[in-house]
Amino acid sequence: MAGLQVCSVLVTGANQGIGLGLVRHFLGMPNPPKWVFAACQDPKGQRAQELQNLASKHPNLVIIPLEVTDPASIKAAAARVGEHLGGSGLNLLINNAGIMKLNSLDNETLEDMTQVYTTNTIGPLLLGQAFLPLLKKAAQGSPSSALSCSKAAIINMSSSGGSIEEVYLWNYGQAVSYRCSKAALNMLTKCQSLGYRQHGVLCVALHPGWVQTDMGGAGSQKVGVSPWQSPCADFPWEGRELLP
Ligand code: NDP
Repeated sequence: MAGLQVCSVLVTGANQGIGLGLVRHFLGMPNPPKWVFAACQDPKGQRAQELQNLASKHPNLVIIPLEVTDPASIKAAAARVGEHLGGSGLNLLINNAGIMKLNSLDNETLEDMTQVYTTNTIGPLLLGQAFLPLLKKAAQGSPSSALSCSKAAIINMSSSGGSIEEVYLWNYGQAVSYRCSKAALNMLTKCQSLGYRQHGVLCVALHPGWVQTDMGGAGSQKVGVSPWQSPCADFPWEGRELLP
């Protein structure tokens, strides 16, 4: 993350996997952000134990409750973050939370399609809307005219599984709802980039590589890298290839 200078960042789905890896990276930077907001569904629960341990050591880490499928929870999270920031804006919103169902074309369902789309696509849309005022504030407060992660940005954690041009690992798992949700997330990112550019907010979709997590498969599968080695820990992201 050398070269990145952010005052504040929010990571969704921060209690495990890539989200937790990102939080650790931010906290370990030579110049760590003044505020690292780690959003998760149940900040006091067992699944957030590692975040709680980190928060006891790092006063700049704030755990925020967030259910990305619930508009009220998203608004409440934005209000909380705004309170912590006082008058300043949020530099970086990382929409990382996501789910996958390994359903095939034959057994995909209305319920799963809806749940996966709501989490992976609608969540980032609503988060972008709710945090836009804080992102705009950060952009307005930046001396730089160029779009950048250090100024104000939305990073949507996509997947090459959503690529239409190269349908990645079809034989490994069809995961139809997941692929569709990430393809739609890529288009959402394009729409956000067109709509929010005028406010000085960079919008990027990122494929983190194959990472050993609950979703990416750990245990028996010897594929992927650990969250600490994921290329998404390598800044700057501005230069990265956007997904189709
Ligand atoms: P994990 O399953 O390890 O973590 C997913 C995170 O999202 C968890 O913190 C989970 O919370 C959270 N989450 C899920 N649903 C919600 C919700 N409704 N509200 C709030 N938080 C929620 O996945 P990864 O870390 O592997 O994946 C992170 C992102 O990276 C995802 O968007 C995924 O699609 C993407 N990605 C991952 C790849 C990989 O190889 N791992 C490859 C390509 C993309 P909880 O623990 O409480 O369930």
